[in-house]
Amino acid sequence: MNLKPNKATGLYVFENDLRLEDNRLFNQACLHAVTSNTALICLYCFQPWQFRTVKIRKTVIKKANKRNAVMGSARYGFLWQSLNELKHQLQLKGISLLVRIGGTEQVVSALQKQHQFDHIYHNQSVGFYENQQWLKLKKKFPNLTFYTAHSNSLFELNDLPFKVSEMPKHFTPFRKAVEQLSWPLSEPVIDCYLYHKVNELNHWSQIPSVADGQRKVKVYIGGAKAAQEHLGDYFASKLPSSYKRVRNQLLGWQNSTKFSPWLALGCVSPRQIMQQLKTYEANHGANESTYWIFFELLWREFFYWNALKQGAKLFQTELASIETKNSIALLNLWSQGQTGVPLIDACMHQLNHTGYLSNRGRQIAASFLIHEMGVDWRLGAGYFEQVLIDYDVASNWGNWQYIAGVGADPRGGRHFNVEKQQQTHDPDGKFIKQWSKHESTVSSISWKDLFD
Ligand SMILES: Cc1cc2nc3c(=O)[nH]c(=O)nc-3n(C[C@H](O)[C@H](O)[C@H](O)COP(=O)(O)OP(=O)(O)OC[C@H]3O[C@@H](n4cnc5c(N)ncnc54)[C@H](O)[C@@H]3O)c2cc1C
Repeated sequence: MNLKPNKATGLYVFENDLRLEDNRLFNQACLHAVTSNTALICLYCFQPWQFRTVKIRKTVIKKANKRNAVMGSARYGFLWQSLNELKHQLQLKGISLLVRIGGTEQVVSALQKQHQFDHIYHNQSVGFYENQQWLKLKKKFPNLTFYTAHSNSLFELNDLPFKVSEMPKHFTPFRKAVEQLSWPLSEPVIDCYLYHKVNELNHWSQIPSVADGQRKVKVYIGGAKAAQEHLGDYFASKLPSSYKRVRNQLLGWQNSTKFSPWLALGCVSPRQIMQQLKTYEANHGANESTYWIFFELLWREFFYWNALKQGAKLFQTELASIETKNSIALLNLWSQGQTGVPLIDACMHQLNHTGYLSNRGRQIAASFLIHEMGVDWRLGAGYFEQVLIDYDVASNWGNWQYIAGVGADPRGGRHFNVEKQQQTHDPDGKFIKQWSKHESTVSSISWKDLFD
């Protein structure tokens, strides 16, 4: 279908759903545009709070519910590439991606006043503060229709066998309740061409671009296309059949799926992954390892709905604060890989250098900060938010709560014995050797001029 509509009546706001394939909401928006012969404007907002050099740590201590983060360069690079790919895919449909620097509430309000849209589409985030902006917009524009969907979960909200507010507090009963459920098949993007020239101010050219050579980790290229390639490579190999046996190894890029960065930005959906996993099982046989990939995706699902249930409590603690006077100094030692404990320092060097750390490495490093150094877990979670290439509000804060013993852990927290972990997961010291060489500085993108 080739259309050249003049008036845009719909606005699609991309957030953590940076893909067109298996994106029902985007299909719905396109269908509406096609049937009403109107245009669709697509928008992405760079939120200033993610980039401003604010006193992140002090803010987190004083106001646990006010999160602030300066995005590290690896995380930014992955996001930039993902947006670049999305922009390209939209162009093939005749649609321009409008990029704006500013909070969603402000940017959408300004566009609404100008265009008088009839309807706005946006992915339903489970992050409490992300949602606040949408609640304000809904109040501001009561006559506007907002279409939302949970585009990044495996299950539909209405298919869950419980109300989210009553979901099991712990993972095992959650898993048992949902494991047998089915989920909708992933949906291909509809075929349409919606040419519409957007004469809006676009900040795309002001956004720092990321050259290919600047990538820290070869396997990680942002965007839906790279996600599909990685998925294809992973399931074309025999790796899924040994996943459970090797997933806790600290060294090596093939010991786990490495799906998380693409999942976090919605470049791929869990349904697309499950579809490929099922095909792999049909062709090569299912075993404990292939099941375990599903099992880990259920952990993600658990934290996803748990974040919606907890709301602002996800960033708070039920315990009295364990913050000490020198917690900022301790946090700095930990985050820069200067604790003097080789395994912890190696983990932090890898994280700072690449934006990625294995699940076991994250658990050991987080446990050390909380239980050995006595630092408030929220400071560690805030640091991970800055640097993780796969930062996801639900998985990050939920896992930190779990280790601190203030969240979903029925055992009241996880305290990892570093020496034992080293003997088990790095007995010959190869991981420590590899990462002790690296400098541990995280550069952040210079956005000063844009936001000041
Ligand atoms: C302190 C801490 C912070 C974390 N922060 C994040 C985060 O911000 N974003 C994020 O995606 N994951 C986070 N995790 C979970 C986990 O460490 C990563 O998902 C995993 O290491 C990503 O690598 P992978 O894709 O190779 O995982 P695999 O082992 O291959 O697992 C497959 C998929 O299952 C999911 N998964 C696996 N383990 C977990 C888990 N414990 N919780 C939730 N989902 C899981 C992920 O989507 C992952 O891609 C955190 C874990 C800890 C302990």
